[in-house]
Amino acid sequence: MRREAHLTLYSGSREHYAEMPRLPVGSGTTHSTPRSQEDSVIAARKIAGSGLVSAFLCILLPLAAHPESHALPQGDVQAIYRRLMQKIEPIKIFDHHAHPGFGDDADVDAQSAPPQHLPLRARETNPELVVAVKALFGYPYSDFSEEHVHWLGEKSAAAEKAGGIGYWDSILDKCGIETSVANRVAMSNYLDPKRFRWVFFVDSFLFPFDNKLVTGENPDEGVYIPLQEKVLHRYMQQAGIAHLPDTFEGYLAFISRILEENQKKGGIAQKFEVAYFRSLHFADPPREVAADIYRKYRSGGVPTPQEYTAFQDYIFRYLVTEGGRLHLPVHLHTAVGEGDYFSLQKGNVLNLENVVKDPRYLETTFVLIHGGYPYFRQVIWLAAMKNVYIDSSEIEVLLYPSELKNVLKLWLETYPEKITFGTDAYPYSAALGSEVGYWLGVRSARDALAAALAEMVAAGEITEATALKFAHGYLHDNAVGLYPPASR
Ligand SMILES: [Zn+2]
Repeated sequence: MRREAHLTLYSGSREHYAEMPRLPVGSGTTHSTPRSQEDSVIAARKIAGSGLVSAFLCILLPLAAHPESHALPQGDVQAIYRRLMQKIEPIKIFDHHAHPGFGDDADVDAQSAPPQHLPLRARETNPELVVAVKALFGYPYSDFSEEHVHWLGEKSAAAEKAGGIGYWDSILDKCGIETSVANRVAMSNYLDPKRFRWVFFVDSFLFPFDNKLVTGENPDEGVYIPLQEKVLHRYMQQAGIAHLPDTFEGYLAFISRILEENQKKGGIAQKFEVAYFRSLHFADPPREVAADIYRKYRSGGVPTPQEYTAFQDYIFRYLVTEGGRLHLPVHLHTAVGEGDYFSLQKGNVLNLENVVKDPRYLETTFVLIHGGYPYFRQVIWLAAMKNVYIDSSEIEVLLYPSELKNVLKLWLETYPEKITFGTDAYPYSAALGSEVGYWLGVRSARDALAAALAEMVAAGEITEATALKFAHGYLHDNAVGLYPPASR
């Protein structure tokens, strides 16, 4: 029995639209074929001299050559969906945002998931998760009782113990993913560098001082900030320094050194999850202000929230500028986040407008991870900038495909060449591991994508050929073009 969520597609009834001008049914295209144009011309010649010819040409030919788009579907949406799905299923995917890894691997993320009230689809009561583990691992049960989940835990432990890169490569193969971003603190030797591309974290550079105030803000920050401090410590060890550099120039040089080294180690982008810790609005303080704050607190003392914010504003812009110099795109978490205290207002993607529309940063590629959800209507207009891209990860699991379809449709109708696919696969629990995140994200996105495109074709907006071009762009081509190829 199939228990996955599926779309209910709207296919208009014929009687209902009998009055409407019709596009060629079945071709699903907004452009007339040469054949139909030729037929129209022959028909027109046959009645030439009847006096009706000019009226005929005015009505028929413009309709054939320049069809209009319509609010209601003009063709059979279900049939178009099925045709598109057949061609979308085999497209090999580039997953633009994921955290692959085993549940006990601390390098999977720079933070951990605090206790939270999960949305419906992410709960272990979701029967789709059973379908996923059956498909991926041959799970012999139909629920996640404690005893049964143990089976999954053992399976995962055995794969981890066996070592080698085969296990995670096979997960990508099962999901139809060619390449996946691995947004992790560090890469692991169980991830094949040809198929997993490293995106490293840079938030910790924003937290070099005493973080007492921000850590105490709420229980979530109490979990997050000490982990950021750990990452900064690790970067200091990497640079061979026991203390923060004496001067502000020294601190900036330390940041640049880590960026360059991580890029040489295979890093393809830098990731900010800063929306979890403060507002995404970054002011533009002069360098001296940041340098003074650094001098004041480098070796102790608690900065005021205003001082810390100004310092972080400067460092953030420094990292963005370096992202342009090094061709190291900037990935930003821009949607609602985990935990119960995530601020939707501070994390609103529109707070980034002054940065992503700043001509000084035109050389920097921005990827707005998780598409600003729930502000997905607003976020697509930021992609008007040639250097701004949108990623749909996380939305695939927060929402069911029926609503993801609406998100993708709006984006596809606006800047289809700027949207990219991601899963945000992450080892949340034994039942919802990174493997299941990949599986669920891919299936939901292919389904919602085919549905969104089918509606666009049926409404006379695009041809089926254009729809498939958009599908390749979203699932693979748009993101791949942003990075150098993996070294062989
Ligand atoms: Zn993520």
